[in-house]
Amino acid sequence: MNFDDFELIYRENRVEIKDKEKIVEELKNKIGEKNVSTEKIDILAYTRDTSLISLNWTIEGKLAGLPDIITFPENIAHIKDILEIANREKIPIVPFAEGSGVVGGAIPLRGGIIIDMKRFNKILEINDKNLTVTVQTGVNGMNLERYLNAKGYTGGHIPQSLYTSSVGGWIAHKAAGQFSTKYGKIEDIVLGMKVVLPTGELITFDPIARAATGPQLDKYFIGSEGTLGIVTEATLKIWPYPEKRTLVSYTFPTIEESLNATRQIMRENVYPAVIRIYDADETMRHFENTEKAKDKVMTVFVCEGNQRLVDLEEQITREKCEENSGVDCEEEPVEHWFETRFRVTETSMFPPYKIVADTIEVSVMWDRAAELYHSVVDATKKVEGNLLVSAHVSHFYPNGVGFYFTFGGVPGKEKSQFDFYKECWDATIKATLEAGGSISHHHGIGINRSHWMKEEWDGGLEIMQKFKKILDPNNIFNPGKIYEKTWKGGNE
Ligand SMILES: Cc1cc2nc3c(=O)[nH]c(=O)nc-3n(C[C@H](O)[C@H](O)[C@H](O)COP(=O)(O)OP(=O)(O)OC[C@H]3O[C@@H](n4cnc5c(N)ncnc54)[C@H](O)[C@@H]3O)c2cc1C
Repeated sequence: MNFDDFELIYRENRVEIKDKEKIVEELKNKIGEKNVSTEKIDILAYTRDTSLISLNWTIEGKLAGLPDIITFPENIAHIKDILEIANREKIPIVPFAEGSGVVGGAIPLRGGIIIDMKRFNKILEINDKNLTVTVQTGVNGMNLERYLNAKGYTGGHIPQSLYTSSVGGWIAHKAAGQFSTKYGKIEDIVLGMKVVLPTGELITFDPIARAATGPQLDKYFIGSEGTLGIVTEATLKIWPYPEKRTLVSYTFPTIEESLNATRQIMRENVYPAVIRIYDADETMRHFENTEKAKDKVMTVFVCEGNQRLVDLEEQITREKCEENSGVDCEEEPVEHWFETRFRVTETSMFPPYKIVADTIEVSVMWDRAAELYHSVVDATKKVEGNLLVSAHVSHFYPNGVGFYFTFGGVPGKEKSQFDFYKECWDATIKATLEAGGSISHHHGIGINRSHWMKEEWDGGLEIMQKFKKILDPNNIFNPGKIYEKTWKGGNE
């Protein structure tokens, strides 16, 4: 295969490595020959993450980014060796876990060295008294959850990408699992970390229950998307495996009624592990066999944990649904959700048909939740060529919710697939900001949202840029992400 045959999408500001062969030799000498690759097949594997537009590009013979060298460190000393060379030669570094990110976070925008974390895959210790597990961060999500289940626990963090993502990727992107309403997002679950900074120092944040020891520096690394260092180890909360699980589902005439019911449930301090509201379009797609769901808004609940508490949670959940015109659809829709919850072909089957699709998650406080839903759907539907816009609500808090929008369409005549993709993204983000929402709930910034960071953070962005300079003086860590615009735009 010849890389010259591919069009490189992100080629601007690509860094050319001087005397690459010498650098490769030096890396092999330091971290071992088997831990360094420049094989074309390996290079190809790290040209993109799972952002859907990059699948369209692959089919069109285009590459998102082009790394130069792939490394597979086995320990912290190896990472330090790589960083010493990268700092000396000003070579970009991209931490890479399982590549399931969907916003371009792991795309090597400027080339350079990939640090693949998959060999950091050990589960180190369960502490039953503290209810924690300590792991190396390259550990695969499903391997971790299966291990915990076998020992009588759950990690409570079950993203749809459980089989294809790692603890390090979750921390880097502030991920949220399907059971987040009870167990929290990853930032609620991480209690301690080890982080190798861009300059090679190791910081250890010991697990703590809570502390009042000044600003919590550790939190700054959660969500830093591989721009401020490499998280090598993490201590996470775990829970005893639930004693009882109940499955409840209701349909509502409108999304407003479903939002009201779920808001009132949260207000009672009741936290079903799973709550998912599907708008009428998604209800039609996912629950076409449920007679009572026709033209309605399906809402599924899973309550789990201590048996007596679960019974009470179920009772309150049912009361609030019925007070808001909910119609009981029993267990079958939730069983269907359980059976299909890791099926990820829905959007990825579009690119072979030249359809451009993606999903965009945002969050909003309760008082503007319904407004945000309608504004985003209306704004995205207006993009020429859009054939489908739908949403579900999948993360619930006493004060607000996380929405998950899906779009799909075919670009108009004069437009490329990428133009259409960017237009849909920008329409969603703009409408979200206008409705008082936050531009990402759990997929992160990566490339797709960095041009909206100023609108999200205002003066805070400048402070983040200053922190980045202090921690990464040579700007080698995942350059071009979060703090810099890759796509033109935003409100400017
Ligand atoms: C079908 C599908 C379903 C998904 N469902 C969910 C979901 O339910 N919830 C959710 O939150 N997300 C979901 N995602 C998105 C994705 O799985 C998450 O963003 C995940 O957290 C990425 O993990 P990863 O291990 O694949 O990381 P990668 O994609 O390899 O990397 C993501 C980012 O993390 C950085 N990084 C990776 N490891 C480290 C480390 N050790 N230290 C520092 N930086 C690091 C990389 O540089 C990059 O910026 C889904 C994706 C797909 C394709």
